[in-house]
Amino acid sequence: MALAITGARLNGEQVCLRTADGLIEELGAGVEPRADDDRIDATGLALIPGLVNAHTHAAMTLFRGYADDLPLMEWLEQHIWPAERRLEADDVYWGTRLACLEMARAGTIRFWDMYWKQAATARAVKDAGMRAIVGAPLIDGKDPDQAPRLLAKARRTIEEIEEAGQGAVRPALAPHAIYTVSEPSLRGIAEISAERDVPVEIHLSETEQEVTDCIAETGLRPAQYLDRTGLLGPRTVLAHCVWLDQAEIELIVERGATMVTNPVANLKLAVGGVFPYAAARAAGAEIALGTDGAGSNNSLDMLDDVKAFALIQKHVAADPAAVTAAEAWEIATGQRAELVGGGPLAAGAPADFALARLDAPSLALGELDAGLVYAADASAIRMTVVAGRVVYRQGDRAELDEVLAHAREQAARLGLVRS
Ligand SMILES: [Zn+2]
Repeated sequence: MALAITGARLNGEQVCLRTADGLIEELGAGVEPRADDDRIDATGLALIPGLVNAHTHAAMTLFRGYADDLPLMEWLEQHIWPAERRLEADDVYWGTRLACLEMARAGTIRFWDMYWKQAATARAVKDAGMRAIVGAPLIDGKDPDQAPRLLAKARRTIEEIEEAGQGAVRPALAPHAIYTVSEPSLRGIAEISAERDVPVEIHLSETEQEVTDCIAETGLRPAQYLDRTGLLGPRTVLAHCVWLDQAEIELIVERGATMVTNPVANLKLAVGGVFPYAAARAAGAEIALGTDGAGSNNSLDMLDDVKAFALIQKHVAADPAAVTAAEAWEIATGQRAELVGGGPLAAGAPADFALARLDAPSLALGELDAGLVYAADASAIRMTVVAGRVVYRQGDRAELDEVLAHAREQAARLGLVRS
C-alpha cells in the first residue's frame, strides 16, 4: 500500500510525500495524493529524517536496570556475561522487539546491532518492521587455536542472519574487541568481510586499559594493531573510539573506517575520556552516533544521546560552537557516515522518516534542528515510518503492551526480576 503524507512541514514548506515499494516516490509542495493512497494528514507535523543508531546491543533491554553503577570489566565479567550464558532465542527475540519499539518511539529507523542469538534478533527486526545491520559477537578468548572454530561460526552467522532477516536485515561480522579476539581470528574475519562484502562492527579503544594492554602486548596502539590485522577498512564501524591519539585518527581516516561515538554509555561507565570529535572532524572522519546497549546507557532514545554528544563536545572544547545543532543532527541521522547510511529525504530514497510534533513545547518555537537536538524527547515524535510502513504511531499501546508482557517473562526467566 502506498502512503501519502499530506500537509507536513519540510524546510519551511508544506509538502506531500508519497511512497511506493518502500521508497519515496514523490516529495514536494506540488505533489498530490492519489485516489488509492493510504492518506495520513500531517498538518502541524514536521517531516524529519529518521535517526540511525550506529551501535547498540538491542536485546539488552532485558538487562536495563540490572547491575548498574559498576566499572566496565566488573560489570561485564561478574554480571552481564554470566547472565548472557543463560540466554535463549526467545529472550533475544522479545528483548529486541522491545528495543525496536523503544527506538521507533524516538524516531529511530535503523540500527547497528551486536548480540547473541543473531537469528532471533534478525527475526525480531523483520517482525517490528525496522531495518538493522546485525552481527553475532565473535569471541575466542584470545586463543588462536579457537580461530578455525570462530571463523566457521562467522561464516555460518552471515547465512543465518540473511535468512532470518528476509531483506529487512543486513548481516555484519562483529568481533567483540581486540581484547577478546585473537589475531588469527581478526585476520580471518577481515578476509571473510572482503570476500563477502559484509561490514564489520567492533568496539575499539573504549577504556585506557585497552590501550595500555595493547601496547604492552603488541607495541602498537589499538587502531594500529587493528590495521595490522587487515580489519581497519571502509567496511568497518568502530564503536566508542575514546582513547585514540592523533596518529590513530589519521590512520582510521586514511583507511576509510567509520567512528561511532557512544557518549552516554561512556559517561555512565565512567571511561574517563571523551571521543576526540574535534580532531576526528578536522581529519575528515566518517562519524556516527550510537546509544550502546540498554545495559550501559540505559536508554535507546537517540534524541537524548544527540544532546549528550553535543553538550559534552562543547564542554571539553570550552567552545559552544565545537559542534552545532545542525551538525549534531546530521551525525545522529547517519548523514556524516556513508557506511552507516542516512541521506536527505528525496524522491528515490528509502521511505524511512519520522513526523515530529510542531505543537510539542520543545519544537513549537525556534529553529527545528536546535529543538530536536537540545530540547525534544520521544514525546515529540508523532509517527515513525520505515520502508513506507508506519512502525510507530503515538498513542497506540497495543503492540507495546504485548511486547512488554513477553519481555518481562523472559527477564524473569533469566533471573533479572526487580527486587
Ligand atoms: Zn557496545
